[in-house]
Amino acid sequence: MDRVSPLCPLVGLIASDAGTRYLSLACNRRLQSMLLTLSSMPTSPNPLLLDYDRIPFGEIEAAHVVPAVKDILEDGRAEIEALVSVESTPTYADTIGRLDDALERVKERTVPITHLLSVAETPELREAYGKVLPEITEFWTRVTLNEGLWSRIRALAETDEAAALSPMERRHLDTTLRDFRRAGADLSTTDKEKLSAIRLEISSLEQKFPENVIDATNAYSLLIEDGGRLEGVPDADREEASRKAAEKGQEGWLLTLDYPSFEPIIKHAHDRDLRRELYTAYVERCRDGEFDNRDIIARLLHLRRELAEVLGYADFADYRLVDHMAKTGEQAFGFVEDMTQKTRLYWERDLAELREHASVLGLSEIEPWDTAFLAESLRRDKFDIDDEVIRPYFPLDRVLDGMFEVVRRVFGLVVTEQTIPEVWNPDVHCYELSREEDGTLLGFFYADWHPRPDKRQGAWMNALRTGGPRDGGFEPHVGMIAGNLSPPKGDVPSLLTHREVQTIFHEFGHLLHHLTSTVPIAPMAGINVAWDFVEFPSQIMENWTWEEEAISLFSGHHESGEPLPKELYERLRRARTFLGGWMQMRQLSFGHLDLRLHRSHPDAVTQDLMSYIEGLFEEYTPGPAFARMHVTTSFTHLFAGGYAAAYYSYLWSEVLDADAFGRFRLEGIFNREVGDAYLASILTRGDSDEPEALFREFMGRDPDLQPLLERNLGRSLDDGSRDGSSAMASP
Ligand SMILES: [Zn+2]
Repeated sequence: MDRVSPLCPLVGLIASDAGTRYLSLACNRRLQSMLLTLSSMPTSPNPLLLDYDRIPFGEIEAAHVVPAVKDILEDGRAEIEALVSVESTPTYADTIGRLDDALERVKERTVPITHLLSVAETPELREAYGKVLPEITEFWTRVTLNEGLWSRIRALAETDEAAALSPMERRHLDTTLRDFRRAGADLSTTDKEKLSAIRLEISSLEQKFPENVIDATNAYSLLIEDGGRLEGVPDADREEASRKAAEKGQEGWLLTLDYPSFEPIIKHAHDRDLRRELYTAYVERCRDGEFDNRDIIARLLHLRRELAEVLGYADFADYRLVDHMAKTGEQAFGFVEDMTQKTRLYWERDLAELREHASVLGLSEIEPWDTAFLAESLRRDKFDIDDEVIRPYFPLDRVLDGMFEVVRRVFGLVVTEQTIPEVWNPDVHCYELSREEDGTLLGFFYADWHPRPDKRQGAWMNALRTGGPRDGGFEPHVGMIAGNLSPPKGDVPSLLTHREVQTIFHEFGHLLHHLTSTVPIAPMAGINVAWDFVEFPSQIMENWTWEEEAISLFSGHHESGEPLPKELYERLRRARTFLGGWMQMRQLSFGHLDLRLHRSHPDAVTQDLMSYIEGLFEEYTPGPAFARMHVTTSFTHLFAGGYAAAYYSYLWSEVLDADAFGRFRLEGIFNREVGDAYLASILTRGDSDEPEALFREFMGRDPDLQPLLERNLGRSLDDGSRDGSSAMASP
């Protein structure tokens, strides 16, 4: 399970089909005074409409949402109408430039609301957002269906100016033309109306799906009255469960389905029935009852297919992937199949090992709720290592300080903590990121690390404002990173597993991609890159968490201050490829599920949805009992926008990061020259060039699958995976 939860769906990039490329956030103050005049000001000013330096999180209330959004959208519409009504020959500045500014402004002004929904949700806020969501969706849909706008952009493309644009501006114009076509700009009026209706319904279902997951998660708890049932569970987790029970006025231990509560049970509890009960509850969230997501999935699959067909694509995957590195569903599927074939032998090896260990423990057959437990127990036996031995060496503050030191050494970037009052929760910390050599302030960010009932699950990064080079200097970016990491327990600080340490590095990698961007065109800046490229800068950061020299910077026992002992490090490193085939197959099973759901005809899929899905898992699991225990009905990656038809992109990006990190391994993990080259070719460049070209610029060649196979699987089996042919090389 633990590979699923730390993945980050980058909530800032809502893949509204109307314009993924337009959903980054930028700052442009040009229109702000106009916005204030348009607002019908209530007695006290609406904080969402004020001209702020720091987003006034502490002051935003649910009641502000509806009036603010109405004003923000009205302002956006007025600006677009104004630029459409210009009668002279279109110029880049008065069409594309002005459109970018108007749209970035809408995004920048609405993102505090969606951000709050993910970190400080209240029923009132949810309801208020639900009221304006249709209008927001309609706004984005209307942009690309605006005929006046479309004809001005097409006219611009025919001008002499367009022929002489800089390569970056030309690329932006071309992708804008492509995005408009892909959004339906060339369709008949009837088809445009149809498309709008489809988008509107998709958007409301994608809003409802994760709400159901949160509600189903919160609706469940299991009170354990007999402490003996928690045998094997680490003390710290038992204490947390007992604290949770006390909080509710109950006696005993309260278990919930929040990942930090759920994980220690399935990994450590000796009580098999307890594991079964909790695991089953976890998997069965949203499978029926009040928070049933099955009909939402079925409807979404139909709507997505319909949307693709209206736009002339064979299926949703082809529609979705046209602006990805993979380009087509077939190419992505080929990649997943190729990797599956290269992984299978390792997966079989791992399964055999788990089965053998099960029989040692007296289990005749393994069940889905046994694997995490067996894996943990086997890991302890083989490598004499478990999370609880490692945790004391990774207190959160130490990890953060050490990580900041890593990026100072590698990239010459300095992080300084700031105390500001405008936060959504006292738990939130704020920082500035600057360039060491000249002190240039690149960005500001928030970090929110621990679980709360009003916060969504997982870990993620969000872009709150896109800065970059502007007339008069560098405008700092604003971003945030969040997680649900092990919280402090009593007097003991937050102590992290190594996986949690990787999660922090991962999200910080996304953040650096955003905060270091020097792309002046906001919709192409930072993380606004091809979806199967976006996890590359995040995943590459995880590599430093495995390097001894780096670990000595960010580990330190919370009592003695002693860094992770060498011998423990050796054991941790040796365990790195442990069950690598098993884990990789799990990732591939999700990629496979996702592409099959979005490439097959929805009638065939949805007739008996759950059996169809079970069937898809069969070749990826040890048997039907496992195939049945899939998490599809709570799989927000696929059904709340972000990763639909693009789940494969995690592994695709992993190929890129494993390969690229090879250059650091070779030339030095703290080598500033390599760090600078990486900054110059990848990190600062956003989508200013084709991702393939950026990769080639840094590595001097196309990506190679082999480093990832070695990193994840080891090299012990002769399975032909050394055949370096890469399903990524073309088209
Ligand atoms: Zn990520």
